[in-house]
Amino acid sequence: MTALGRLQGSLRRASGRVLDVLLPPRCLACAGEVAEQGTLCATCFTGLSPISPPFCARCGVPFAHGEGESLCPRCAARPPAFAAARAALRYDAGAKRLILPFKHADRTELAWPLARQMARAGAGLLARAELIVPVPAHWRRLLGRRYDQAALLARALGRIAQRPVALDLLRRRRRTPPLADKGAADRAITVQGAFALARKGGALVAGRRVLLVDDVVTSGATSEACALVLLEAGALAVEVLAAARVPDPRLRDA
Ligand SMILES: [Zn+2]
Ligand SMILES: [Zn+2]
Repeated sequence: MTALGRLQGSLRRASGRVLDVLLPPRCLACAGEVAEQGTLCATCFTGLSPISPPFCARCGVPFAHGEGESLCPRCAARPPAFAAARAALRYDAGAKRLILPFKHADRTELAWPLARQMARAGAGLLARAELIVPVPAHWRRLLGRRYDQAALLARALGRIAQRPVALDLLRRRRRTPPLADKGAADRAITVQGAFALARKGGALVAGRRVLLVDDVVTSGATSEACALVLLEAGALAVEVLAAARVPDPRLRDA
């Protein structure tokens, strides 16, 4: 991103839409010129890989080929606690151009293009959701980062779909070590017991269809741990919507 783009981004955040008339609209990802403020240029937009069928009916992992309603081997062997999971984008170079600055560089306005992609991929999930709940960041991580990206996505989705959002319903009880270098089984053990419901959260969850929102889904271990807490609190069903997911390497040739 250029210095001009960064400056424009911070000015825009500081002054809201007043500057729109003064500065030409810029692509949110690359700062190239666009027709409308708050959008992506054609190059960045076509660089995204939306996840489309065929994918696992349950966890949403994309299949290389196949048709109809089918389950991936993992869901067939042991169905997850959540009823369905969907993600808008494959977590590839194109998605990283949006998600990495969103997560690590304070580019909070990127929540909007991501949420719009999520609303498309998760239209069915949003339509039946009665409560939107973000996967919580640990408070110590929040102190370092000043905001929580899953909460920003949840709030944007709540506005797009006109659904209630409960930002502080789930809590991270302890900090989990980075999961990046762990396999699926290790990830599941690492996040076990890492989440809890906020006090008095039960009344909000009981009997409701809850949509859990996260930025990137990798193994699904975090979604699974959060879904278990919500179901234990009496949620009718839990579904998961993420901005991006890491395709399961084992299914590449399936
Ligand atoms: Zn661009
Ligand atoms: Zn699956």
